[in-house]
Amino acid sequence: MKCGKPIENKRVEYCYDCSRRRHNYEQARALFSYQGSVRGALYRFKMSNRREYGVFFGKEICKILGFWIRNCRADYLIPIPLTKEKERVRGYNQAQILARAISRQTGIPCKENMLVKHTETQAQKGLDARQRQKNLEQAFGIRTQCGDFVLAGKRVILVDDIYTTGATVDAAAAVLRKAGVWKIYVLTVAIGG
Ligand SMILES: [Zn+2]
Repeated sequence: MKCGKPIENKRVEYCYDCSRRRHNYEQARALFSYQGSVRGALYRFKMSNRREYGVFFGKEICKILGFWIRNCRADYLIPIPLTKEKERVRGYNQAQILARAISRQTGIPCKENMLVKHTETQAQKGLDARQRQKNLEQAFGIRTQCGDFVLAGKRVILVDDIYTTGATVDAAAAVLRKAGVWKIYVLTVAIGG
């Protein structure tokens, strides 16, 4: 199991996505499937200022996935960033709220300003999957004052609210990998969609 999506056919090791393309991370896990009431709760967490949901989700993640988290032996938690503009409009970054909650439960330091998102990425019609992934990677950057020396050889857990195809975390992981990060894991509230 790579991304952690439920697999119906017990004879295959990887889901359809994971068997088709290589991910840039070691392993991903999520608390819920992205369906039913989870969808609504995540929407309110992200769009309707229900920041307190993040604290609840963070606690549940640590309860249910605590063993997996400990096994990652992560040096840092890194939330998937929003662009400055988006964070200003929304007033917060839901991934950051989540990562902070997980940090409080586990004691793993949360590094918030290391990874940044420069530009908004839209679905770009007419581009193939590789070009889209490249554009997505260019959207992310590492803040230079947080330099390579901090990240080189480190183990990190990327934190986000929803995992769909993995394209976003793969792009962020590629940027971290270039900065020398050794092991990259992914933790989300929900997977699917
Ligand atoms: Zn998968």
